[in-house]
Amino acid sequence: MNPESKPSAAPEAMQQTALDSSVFRETLEQADVAVSITDGKANILYVNPAFTRVTGYSAEDAVGRNQSLISNKTTPRTVYTSLWRKITNGQSWSGRLVNRRRDGTPYLADLTITPVQDASGVTVNYLGMHRDITLLHELECQVRNQKALIESVVDTAPVLIALLDANRRVVLDNHAYKKLMADLGMQEPAQQILAAAGFASTTLIEEEPGEFIFHDREVCLERSGWATPRWFSCSLVSVEEDDATADAFFVRQRRRYLLLTAIEITNLRAEQEKSRMAALRAVLAEAERIDGLRESLSAAIYQLEGPINVISSAVAMLARRSQSEPMAQALADAVAAGQAALENLRSEIPPARFEEREAVSVNELLRDVLELSTRSLLAAGIVVNWTPASRLPSLLGYPNRLRTMFKALVDNALEAMNVKGWRERELHLSTRATRGGIEVLIEDSGPGIPAELRLRAFEPFFSTKKGGGRHLGTGLSAAQQTANDHGGLIEIDEAAGRGCRIRLSFPLRNSDGGLA
Ligand code: FAD
Repeated sequence: MNPESKPSAAPEAMQQTALDSSVFRETLEQADVAVSITDGKANILYVNPAFTRVTGYSAEDAVGRNQSLISNKTTPRTVYTSLWRKITNGQSWSGRLVNRRRDGTPYLADLTITPVQDASGVTVNYLGMHRDITLLHELECQVRNQKALIESVVDTAPVLIALLDANRRVVLDNHAYKKLMADLGMQEPAQQILAAAGFASTTLIEEEPGEFIFHDREVCLERSGWATPRWFSCSLVSVEEDDATADAFFVRQRRRYLLLTAIEITNLRAEQEKSRMAALRAVLAEAERIDGLRESLSAAIYQLEGPINVISSAVAMLARRSQSEPMAQALADAVAAGQAALENLRSEIPPARFEEREAVSVNELLRDVLELSTRSLLAAGIVVNWTPASRLPSLLGYPNRLRTMFKALVDNALEAMNVKGWRERELHLSTRATRGGIEVLIEDSGPGIPAELRLRAFEPFFSTKKGGGRHLGTGLSAAQQTANDHGGLIEIDEAAGRGCRIRLSFPLRNSDGGLA
């Protein structure tokens, strides 16, 4: 063969065979791993100094003895059986065994045994190499224990926890989170919570690791099948971890995650809502009491003013005929007394309640009114159809006055339908954002207001209801006053079919009163 055509590896092979056996011996002597060479029955023929350092047995102590010399006699028999099965089959074996040093102390050995075969393939020796990994094992155990401890704490915590990667995928979650996922019909709660919290999936994270992106944000999750919406107080924090891949061994790389935590506060919200409703009920009851008093006094004054004006004209006529007529004097005294009484009544009218103007949610006010009227509506068998606009701008106004007005209109509808024998009992409530304003419709399926009375219905003290008593006929006129005070309009919708449809429209105004 032409020497030039030889494979290029040949000179290296030659170089390797040329190595003196003393080089191999020195290499074994100086290797920092415990090395032993045995015969086919594990009787020790050679140990290196590292073996002595790890086990405490010198070469003189060990050579001629069996490898079982360093066994702690606590490794399960099955381990040895599989070890021997493998090495007698000519294969290497690696694993962990409990060894004992010469001084009697146990240690954990990470051992590899390699069969050494002669030219005919027969195993003549075994090469054993092992390291003391007791400390490493302790650290591994500590990490495992801590992980198990943290996992059990995280799993039993009544807080939903989810870790999201850079693509907003959940990579770790806890038991509470999984339970909500099952409740949501296996939809990922993290995405829904983030969306409800107003955190878009494309939002760039600028916060430093450990910083909150949002904190204690209340979100509401709804699902058909749930009787009521569920509320959660959520926090999102940016976290980082070291990249464990080989690429990042020398150049530290960090991975960014988002840690989402959420505590269910549905019960707390329900309690808060109950207290708020109780307070609202009290405020409305007080408002109704004052309005009732104002109404009654105004009605009394209105009714007295008529006769007093007639008597007053009669007195004037009598006075023109004769100054000295005793009857004229008596009547003049009566008129003066009557006017003084009217003045007294006027001064008894309680002042209108003072209220600050603020940005109000009309949807929320109507929801409050429905909540406050639930019991009466249910008792009257009225089906409510509530269609709020999904997005409605805030109205700058007086929340209590508006709530009182909506309550009075709902009460009117309820009374109109709650008549013995009346079968159609439906109340439709809806809101809508219009061009530059808000529209509210309150529609009932009652007998309605006849066309010829629709305009008069807004006159003070006009009522279609017989029997007086509670009905002084100021409800619609007071509603008109409230609507006017908000720059709005109230009308009875002519286009409505059956029943009565009240349309309220409010323009949106700036804080200085100008149109928005
Ligand atoms: P057994 O395993 O039953 O041993 C009884 C005797 O028979 C021992 O001499 C054993 O070596 C030998 N033997 C068992 N099965 C076979 C077989 N199939 N073919 C030939 N001989 C067999 N054990 C440790 O606990 N710690 C070590 O660090 C360790 N290092 C080893 C390094 C090498 C290179 C080899 C080859 C074995 C090593 N062993 C080690 C295994 C060890 O030889 C024993 O098998 C083990 O310690 C259990 O010993 P035993 O006396 O309790 O029982």
